[in-house]
Amino acid sequence: MGVGGFSPIKKLLLSLVRIFFPPACPLCGSTFPKDHSDLFCAECSSGFHPLSKAKCPICSLPFAGESNSSHLCGRCTKKQPLYTKVYAVGLYEQNLRRAIHQFKFNGKVGLDRPLGKLLERTIANNLNLDLVLPVPLFRKRLQQRSYNQALLLAREVARIRKLPVASDLLHKVLDTKSQQGLSAREREQNLRGAFELGGEVENKIVLLVDDVMTTGATVSACSRVLLDGGAAAVYIAVIGRAA
Ligand SMILES: [Zn+2]
Ligand SMILES: [Zn+2]
Repeated sequence: MGVGGFSPIKKLLLSLVRIFFPPACPLCGSTFPKDHSDLFCAECSSGFHPLSKAKCPICSLPFAGESNSSHLCGRCTKKQPLYTKVYAVGLYEQNLRRAIHQFKFNGKVGLDRPLGKLLERTIANNLNLDLVLPVPLFRKRLQQRSYNQALLLAREVARIRKLPVASDLLHKVLDTKSQQGLSAREREQNLRGAFELGGEVENKIVLLVDDVMTTGATVSACSRVLLDGGAAAVYIAVIGRAA
């Protein structure tokens, strides 16, 4: 074994690969400087905006203009969500929004690992979880897009945390219309009966993964189904949190 656990031949192969395929930023494609160790280049990273400290401790809704308070947001005060807590990489704007769009609609599947790694880092280290599952897509949408972006992210988080991925536990059984432009109440109604449980979740602490969260109608609808099925708790992990 050589330095770092690689055999000399493997090290040679790795350096050859680096010469012909130098590591590059998965978002903009620019070649990384020699000692670069971050997931994205400095310029792309500077356009990722983490959530401020001032946010709702349950749904992570950022509070504009407040520097460091963590009271519940209006919506969570009125009706506490079924899920326990939302972890979000950052605000759904600028480069994070761009990365999600590239990943979701432009076939940049290779963003699954860096985005999944960012997601895993935002989840509390000591959080006790039994399994990871993605927000499912309706079958027709899955055929159109050929992959479920939430499943790819869930796989990466599960791989790092050494947890099982339940890719077929939750099903989307209705082809609901797009949530865009709908009010919070309309979103909730739009998703009524849209998800079904297809397996065993009794007493499990579940991490539900999605790419973007806006009002939380989707993750709430999924949480209801999981908790009705006996899950002990549902945590949410998303890349972009829309304010
Ligand atoms: Zn970049
Ligand atoms: Zn809230």
